[in-house]
Amino acid sequence: MTERVTIVGGGLAGSEAAWQLARRGVSVDLFEMRPVRQTPVHQTGDLAELVCSNSLRGNALDQAAGLLKEEMRRMGSLIIRVADEVRVPAGSALAVDRELFARRVTEAVAALPDVRLHREESPRIPEGPVVIVATGPLTSDALAAEIAAFVGQTHLYFYDAVSPVVDAETIEFARTFRASRYGKGGDDYVNCPLDEEEYEAFYRALTTAECAELHAFDHEFFFEGCLPVEVIASRGRDTLRFGPMKPVGLVDPRTGRRPFAVVQLRQDNLAASHFSLVGFRTQLKWGEQRRVFQMIPGLAQAEFIRMGMIHRNTYVNAPSTLEPTFETRQRLGLFFAGQMSGVEGYVESAASGLLAGVGAALRSRGEEPVAFPEDTALGALGHYIARSDPKHYQPTNIAFGLLPELPQRVRDKGRKRMAMAERALGSLDRFQSRLGRLESSPAPLPAVSRG
Ligand SMILES: Cc1cc2nc3c(=O)[nH]c(=O)nc-3n(C[C@H](O)[C@H](O)[C@H](O)COP(=O)(O)OP(=O)(O)OC[C@H]3O[C@@H](n4cnc5c(N)ncnc54)[C@H](O)[C@@H]3O)c2cc1C
Repeated sequence: MTERVTIVGGGLAGSEAAWQLARRGVSVDLFEMRPVRQTPVHQTGDLAELVCSNSLRGNALDQAAGLLKEEMRRMGSLIIRVADEVRVPAGSALAVDRELFARRVTEAVAALPDVRLHREESPRIPEGPVVIVATGPLTSDALAAEIAAFVGQTHLYFYDAVSPVVDAETIEFARTFRASRYGKGGDDYVNCPLDEEEYEAFYRALTTAECAELHAFDHEFFFEGCLPVEVIASRGRDTLRFGPMKPVGLVDPRTGRRPFAVVQLRQDNLAASHFSLVGFRTQLKWGEQRRVFQMIPGLAQAEFIRMGMIHRNTYVNAPSTLEPTFETRQRLGLFFAGQMSGVEGYVESAASGLLAGVGAALRSRGEEPVAFPEDTALGALGHYIARSDPKHYQPTNIAFGLLPELPQRVRDKGRKRMAMAERALGSLDRFQSRLGRLESSPAPLPAVSRG
């Protein structure tokens, strides 16, 4: 017997999950509160509305977002299929006509005979045997309170204060030194030391840089424990030196002295290919972030993997809550997907919907959900959310640094990425055959029809 699946939230993740389930012959109840009840950002009643940019980022295989999309294409993704159909010129990126995109996704989901679309808010986590919660960063208050009670208050976040992340290959390590404050914790941190003159110049640039426009609802998040670095700086010349740039407990081995100020970098992924700027939450415009933060010694050539930001975002502490299949550890049959599950970005949200949909389909037939291989971009996303350090968990975009290293050393960055992409697609191919055997259901999967 196959159980019906309930999905809450018809955004990028929820729509993709519904599609994946319907393709597998599983019936779905999909609850979407818009247009009856709006979020502070969405403007229409369409499913999968893109709330900001119309870009789904890079499409080439040597870009991590491109590889993720290709894997999704091969898994018959609705979101990527529609994006391909309504793409607009944007160089090597996949950008879409936003209105047409949301309309086509809505039509495709509404046309699925096994999906019932309910236009109502679900204020609670539904009780059914198989449920996917995909209510996004702007989850309604009633449901957010219920999720907080389910995962534990301290495991649900209501805002995202993200420090910038840089590519390790672009850090000038010779200008930095490794140490932890007072020698506690070995040499875990990379310290970028500033002398008085460098600090003065950095301080001036930071306090005069241009900030991004705030959404009205962003203001509530500026409580003391989470101030953007430019706001701390605006309170006085030395406030940063008593805050995120404090040099106490550190001695630069090259001078034998304590630096005037320090920016600390912390390893941000298991592969040590990404480092984040500790305590550098910021609302500066992205171009300004590059300009100002490249003044930090060691970061003059830094390539930013992710820019800093602070915005409303409801998401669970995934490593303490979820398996790589996006199923919760506390309640079998309950999945989280989309931004709510602790991923970041349109494509990653849709990808997690795909993964949760595949897992929920297996669960609805009484089977155990299976994780995708770690060396695929889809699998790496699941591995990241479930296996990261829960103490420092931050949602992230897909990046090659989340995939395991190649067995052989490849110096050239482009070739290395292509080799990782080829390995991923081969691995996905083999996994699909295995999944096909697991899914051997009375009704074979229908092909993804075009148009
Ligand atoms: C302001 C803002 C700007 C962003 N800009 C970008 C960007 O430019 N590029 C990018 O890659 N990512 C961006 N993101 C991040 C993220 O990729 C998007 O939020 C993305 O839409 C997340 O997909 P999702 O499916 O998780 O959530 P959503 O697409 O938001 O879908 C969730 C759905 O659940 C519904 N819902 C909420 N609560 C309930 C309930 N209780 N009952 C029923 N339905 C409910 C909502 O109405 C919504 O339709 C942005 C996020 C925010 C908040």
